[in-house]
Amino acid sequence: MIDHHYIYNLLKKTSNVTKDNIRQSLLKAKDRKRLSHKDIAVLLQIEEEEDLKELFKIAQDIKQEIYGKRIVIFAPLYLSDYCVNSCLYCGYKRENQFQRRKLTREEIQEEVKLLEKMGHKRLAVEVGEDPINCSIEYVTEAIKAIYETYNEHGNIRRVNVNIAATTVDNYRKLKDTGIGTYILFQETYHQPTYEKVHVSGPKANYAYHLTAFNRAIAAGIDDVGAGVLFGLYDYKFEVLALMLHNEYLEKEYGVGFHTISVPRLKKAEGMDIASFPHIVTDQEFKKIVAIIRLAVPFTGIILSTRESHEMRKEVIEYGISQISAGSCTGVGGYKEEEQGEGRAQFEVSDHRKPFEVIQDLIENDHIPSYCTACYRMGRTGDRFMALAKSGQIQNVCGPNALMTLMEYALDYGDEEFQTVINTMIDKEIVNIQREDIKNLLLEKIEKMKQGERDLY
Ligand code: SAM
Repeated sequence: MIDHHYIYNLLKKTSNVTKDNIRQSLLKAKDRKRLSHKDIAVLLQIEEEEDLKELFKIAQDIKQEIYGKRIVIFAPLYLSDYCVNSCLYCGYKRENQFQRRKLTREEIQEEVKLLEKMGHKRLAVEVGEDPINCSIEYVTEAIKAIYETYNEHGNIRRVNVNIAATTVDNYRKLKDTGIGTYILFQETYHQPTYEKVHVSGPKANYAYHLTAFNRAIAAGIDDVGAGVLFGLYDYKFEVLALMLHNEYLEKEYGVGFHTISVPRLKKAEGMDIASFPHIVTDQEFKKIVAIIRLAVPFTGIILSTRESHEMRKEVIEYGISQISAGSCTGVGGYKEEEQGEGRAQFEVSDHRKPFEVIQDLIENDHIPSYCTACYRMGRTGDRFMALAKSGQIQNVCGPNALMTLMEYALDYGDEEFQTVINTMIDKEIVNIQREDIKNLLLEKIEKMKQGERDLY
């Protein structure tokens, strides 16, 4: 699936790219043509400021054209830090001595209530890998518990799941709980590096990990989300490999990744970040996000709080479509944060509360969105991609994002914030071309003001 020599060759062939080569590949992106592997390799070789600027500008235009001002918000929820793997980069590696734990149903519901109190509607469930202490039944029961936790404003409407590669049977059980996207990071596509950093445990099996999405899709999971842990190996190799993996799934199943995550390696317990020779610089990171945006315009790109406020602000412009906010990366972390304690899987950089993140997004002319409509209307997998590619999705995404923002303002905002959102909606409604959609939105917003919720 990932032909290493093919990638090495692409990178070798493009190692001396000329300005003209770069311009041609950028022009293709500008004309909204599909980029070849060679184009992507050419863009990965960009070093000069002037070319980078042009790359960022095109990425920004594509982002704007396809996603408008919308940014989807979610939070991770760590359920268990038991782990049988030995991954050199991870704070949960089995050699690390600390009191491992997993949340009980009551504790899960306590964490969810804290997340709901912040206004969250979308979660990403995270666990370490331990078939005994954290079985698939534990995970599925936990997901049910999450969906069943209500506060006065409703419940969590979409649970995405990031659990270790598993069997078709287990993926089927996961699917039956009504998950959104199944997320799994390949960490590195470079097999020798993969084998070096995954010292032991089930995760050490490169082929099993790489084929996880085949099994997830075979089990009926429509949306799969990939990722690379940038910093383990050469980012140029990784971006090309991600694209090959995506194309493989497109050919095999008619639809590629629903999302791509771009985590960068951070300090963690029991690892020395200086011992990793492929750390990605800020400039390289921005380039990665922009190139992914050009190469797969309709695939969501997810950014976590591993990145600083400043970096997040910048790459949101170049292509990010989903961000986490107010995250804790430890089991029971939301409660512990309230109590001022906690053990994280890795360090985070953006420590702001969701409300601050939302205010900041609005100040920068973005529309924070808690929308979950596509998944709940069955617009998943190839159905979602077909709609996205036809541009028709615009008719639903924009208005739905505004509705979830209105709902957030009514339930979690003060009068001043509600006025800001009302003004914003008045401004945005003018840009909606279709009268019927405009009227429907106005009608639903009015209904929400009268007390109805969860409209889309
Ligand atoms: N156990 C699941 C698996 O095996 O895929 C994954 C869940 S783990 C909680 C989520 C992700 O955190 C990992 O896939 C890895 O990419 C990321 N991660 C681990 N250590 C990290 C570090 N030091 N810095 C940044 N991200 C890290």
